[in-house]
Amino acid sequence: MPVDSFNRRIDYLRLSATDRCNLRCLYCLPEFYARFAPAEELLSHLEIEELAACFAELGVSKIRVTGGEPLVRPAIADLIGRLAKLRGVSEVSLSTNGILLAPLARELAQAGLKRVNISLDTLRPERFRQITRFGKLAAVLEGVEAALKAGLNPVKLNVVVARGMNADEIGEFVELTRSLPLHVRFIELMPMGETGFFSEERRVPLQEMMERAAPLRALGPDERPVGHGPARYYRRPGAQGTVGFISPLSCGFCSACNRVRLTARGVLVPCLDASEGTDLRQALRDKAGRAHLQKLILSVIENKPRRHSMLERAAGLSPNPRFMCQIGG
Ligand code: SAM
Repeated sequence: MPVDSFNRRIDYLRLSATDRCNLRCLYCLPEFYARFAPAEELLSHLEIEELAACFAELGVSKIRVTGGEPLVRPAIADLIGRLAKLRGVSEVSLSTNGILLAPLARELAQAGLKRVNISLDTLRPERFRQITRFGKLAAVLEGVEAALKAGLNPVKLNVVVARGMNADEIGEFVELTRSLPLHVRFIELMPMGETGFFSEERRVPLQEMMERAAPLRALGPDERPVGHGPARYYRRPGAQGTVGFISPLSCGFCSACNRVRLTARGVLVPCLDASEGTDLRQALRDKAGRAHLQKLILSVIENKPRRHSMLERAAGLSPNPRFMCQIGG
């Protein structure tokens, strides 16, 4: 398994299937964003499969398909199936906004998808439309139900928390874990993309999120849902599901980072906060062999930064110029 220069083991690839999205969440994408990649710049299924095989041979065993919104990519189940069949890949997971999940959940599970993270920031229909600009909450809730029915496990709900947006709903999300085996993770707002949304006033720090979610009991390593991320996990007494917190700004978690990211255009990026990467697509289209591609991959891993610069960006109110969808959230 590849190890970076700070001795972190990199066994996890986040792979963006497309930079396009069917929502325009206030904190993620401007309403009239128009910098999506033209079709010929996107990696094909075959190209993704070949690059993923290069990673798998190096010892990267877990792949998460993300985006943009991965379910808007045509024949996404075929892509998941190709990845799940690769030698050395032990798990393929998915991050989705859930809008298109209900009709696809069973096919995805049959193709080899193990688990799913569904992004959902509010349980109120009108607020959902405001945050996403045109989404329908009912479609996501049907997606959550379909994911549970299809046997995807665990099903996690990712909730980005912002003051004035949804911070008042933390308690309601925690209540959901009582009756359903759902794992809700509250995510701190990050300074990503020039959306004009991020501010220190809007960011709700970890301590405040936890106070709003109380009472919670911390979970030991054996009680946590399967995952490879940086969340800290808790449970409301008597609840079926769990509650997690991902707070990249409040508490530095970079020392435990185990991942790199492949953008939809085929650029390998060492950190969510990075603005530069290495173009694997060009190398692949120039007919570079596996050995050369793997050399490029290892060099990106070797140069993975010790930590992100989001705190500095937040203090200077200068978000990463790249939007989340360009990197792969
Ligand atoms: N469309 C998929 C989804 O909704 O999960 C995958 C891509 S989306 C960019 C991945 C995650 O990034 C979502 O949970 C989204 O809410 C989160 N996200 C986007 N912008 C963010 C920001 N500025 N701060 C924190 N999280 C953000």
